[in-house]
Amino acid sequence: MGLLGPPVSVVPGSLYVHIPFCRKACSYCNFHFTTSLRQRDVLLRAVVEELNLRILALNWEDQGLGNIRIESKYQGKFPLKTLYMGGGTPSLLTMDELTYVVKGIGNWFDLYGVQEFTLEANPEDVNSTMVKGWRSLGVNRISLGIQSFDDRNLLRMNRAHDAGKAREALRLLQNEGFQSLSADLIYGFPDRTMQDFEDDLHEMLSWGLSHFSSYQLTCEPKTAFYHQVNENKVRMVSEDLVLEQMMHLYNVSASHGYRAYEISNFALPGHEAVHNSCYWSGYAYWGLGPSAHSYDGFRRRSWNVAHNARYQMEIQSGKLPKTEEVLSDDQKFNEDVLIALRLMDGLNWVALEEKHGSERVQSIHHRIKAMPKEWFEPLNLADRTVPLRLSFAGRAVADFIAVELFADSS
Ligand code: SF4
Repeated sequence: MGLLGPPVSVVPGSLYVHIPFCRKACSYCNFHFTTSLRQRDVLLRAVVEELNLRILALNWEDQGLGNIRIESKYQGKFPLKTLYMGGGTPSLLTMDELTYVVKGIGNWFDLYGVQEFTLEANPEDVNSTMVKGWRSLGVNRISLGIQSFDDRNLLRMNRAHDAGKAREALRLLQNEGFQSLSADLIYGFPDRTMQDFEDDLHEMLSWGLSHFSSYQLTCEPKTAFYHQVNENKVRMVSEDLVLEQMMHLYNVSASHGYRAYEISNFALPGHEAVHNSCYWSGYAYWGLGPSAHSYDGFRRRSWNVAHNARYQMEIQSGKLPKTEEVLSDDQKFNEDVLIALRLMDGLNWVALEEKHGSERVQSIHHRIKAMPKEWFEPLNLADRTVPLRLSFAGRAVADFIAVELFADSS
């Protein structure tokens, strides 16, 4: 195996499928999506065809499958650990549409062996028929886009649901026996007081979900929110208030038994998201659909064109519409540091040294010593078995700390 690891054609154990359709454009969102729902069938056909093209482009020798004809190579299906349908809003697909995509995946992968099959859903799409349908397709985890339990706030976010609908969706999913249920909550939204956020968090925790994610609002170019800020129609909240909300989030969720296993992700013990954990552990995955990203588990990343029509056209002409990059040593080191600092398990010195050498480890030791101690859980740099972990205060400045530790050439 060379420096870059095995060839890109190795089939990964995780699949992400990007469904780029939404009912409304949320004011803060910069994901790739369209609110025109007309071309769904063409797009879904292209997504399934993308998977076919990827499989047919494999170097079968690399799979240990030898020189057999393609029809017979594929006797047993490829194992799949996690399947994640995100977007966009995959829950707006009809059962027929969703079934079509899942069957397309099932042509190549063993769906019976999937450990975690997540579907992102928005509250307005959750009803008894759909929930039963999702279950029958093998979905065993729902990630529900709630964002807030405050109607005024949801209206300003331009969400397609109100708080009542979110509560109804949660009730329905719990009654239907979805044990693995996650929801999203945004903090740092303008014109919201500390009390407003405390109320949101309090309600989120009262549902006793196995998992939730809470993200700080960011002002992304090309969003409605970005223009509102630039035109002084809304003002970003102060850094102090964001910090206060963040500290509250960590402290209160911990007191309810949640482990902040990643900087924005909170789980009851044993309910950490398997798919996302595969990303953070550096495992290979394929992303299907426009704008979806893929990784070979070593140095190669690729991303599909973020344009539905161009994506479809390229697939129809038999091409994979992706751009590829191979990470340099420095880029890989930086990425490893950045991800490790976001995880509660922290940065493992032994693994970092094995992968990147002792010089790099020495270099970041010096820099850490020059930083405020309160940013870290008790430091013990002399003992390589004690990982570097950020304290709650350090998590508030995690990106800054990571950049300070990046390789010199960055
Ligand atoms: S539903 Fe989700 S993906 Fe669609 S616009 Fe809103 S936040 Fe973005």
